[in-house]
Amino acid sequence: MTVLISTRHLVDRLRQPRARADQLRALRERLQRAGDASPANDEAVALARQMRELRERLDQAVGAVRSCSGCAVGHPEPFGHWQGGHCCGGRTEELFSNDELAALALAGTTPGRLTPPRSELAGCVFRGPTGCSLAVRDRPNLCVRFLCRELEAELTRRGDRREIAAIQAELARCFARFAALRADAALPWE
Ligand code: SF4
Repeated sequence: MTVLISTRHLVDRLRQPRARADQLRALRERLQRAGDASPANDEAVALARQMRELRERLDQAVGAVRSCSGCAVGHPEPFGHWQGGHCCGGRTEELFSNDELAALALAGTTPGRLTPPRSELAGCVFRGPTGCSLAVRDRPNLCVRFLCRELEAELTRRGDRREIAAIQAELARCFARFAALRADAALPWE
């Protein structure tokens, strides 16, 4: 797989801004290490799969919203580079924490699934002018769980904020338990 990651990096260097290509390589290598490490814990695997399902449920429940397409207007770079996706303007290596990468790897996300958009780099390597280039199942839990105030207000007006909050809370509970398991020194993961 390391050869594949190196090959993808060479291709990315030709097609992408250099900073994105290099950040992607580092991220794919970290995900690979997380996947290679022995899970050694049935509960962790079950939680990782449950979080993948919850991410997809939460994303479907939120559905099409207006807030995310205009929230970044007037903000400084890189957040305001495009009109929407302000919360995607952060640093890739911080968004994809070791806990997030371990959860993704255990739920089946591989380095090959980490495909970027064809665009300038403005924050997270997966942020493009029309949103995130990753399938919801391959995104960090934080990305799917986070609802800014503007989006919360929109959901409240729409009338299903409470149902969405319940899924959000369940995802947060699963992630906290997963992180606690990883923090246990008995688990030999990165
Ligand atoms: S992974 Fe996707 S949703 Fe998460 S910060 Fe990056 S672009 Fe945004």
